[in-house]
Amino acid sequence: MVSIVAAQQGREEILDRLKRELYVCFECGKCSGSCVVFRVKDDMNPRLFVSSILEASSIDEILEDENVWSCAICYDCTERCDQGIDFTHTLFELKNLSTEIGKQPQAIKEELATLHATGRTSPINARALKKREALDLPEIQVPDLEAIQGLIDRVTSYGTSEKKVKEE
Ligand code: SF4
Ligand code: SF4
Repeated sequence: MVSIVAAQQGREEILDRLKRELYVCFECGKCSGSCVVFRVKDDMNPRLFVSSILEASSIDEILEDENVWSCAICYDCTERCDQGIDFTHTLFELKNLSTEIGKQPQAIKEELATLHATGRTSPINARALKKREALDLPEIQVPDLEAIQGLIDRVTSYGTSEKKVKEE
């Protein structure tokens, strides 16, 4: 429900709250030392990311950083932080906010479009169905598309942008 809370707050208010949550960071670097993504992607440094949020002058400036979407959600930074900072949650919130205002990366937009159209994040192809049959797996259930579309339209800008495209 983080995204709905975020949607109800002004961007300045969200930035102030994030700063209040993160200001106890004493830059020990434990989060970076344990981040599985930082091991292979040297610009995804949680300690520096926390500092950049504390120094940011707007929420849009933070959302420009593509590493908002790089987190593997392993929770190591959160579990190891002696200051109790839940940086995984901070990134969740930023991703939700980014999706609400339509600033997510193209790949995420495409995945959302597939989910909206089919109820799945990736289409089921004939090869996968054949494999399931060979393994004697049960039939894949049809998702509740209406419920999925309703949820996406309610918590993201997806529905709005689709309507705009249709109206144009
Ligand atoms: S582990 Fe916590 S206190 Fe240490 S740098 Fe990371 S966020 Fe800051
Ligand atoms: S939760 Fe994300 S930011 Fe934190 S350590 Fe794991 S991958 Fe890195």
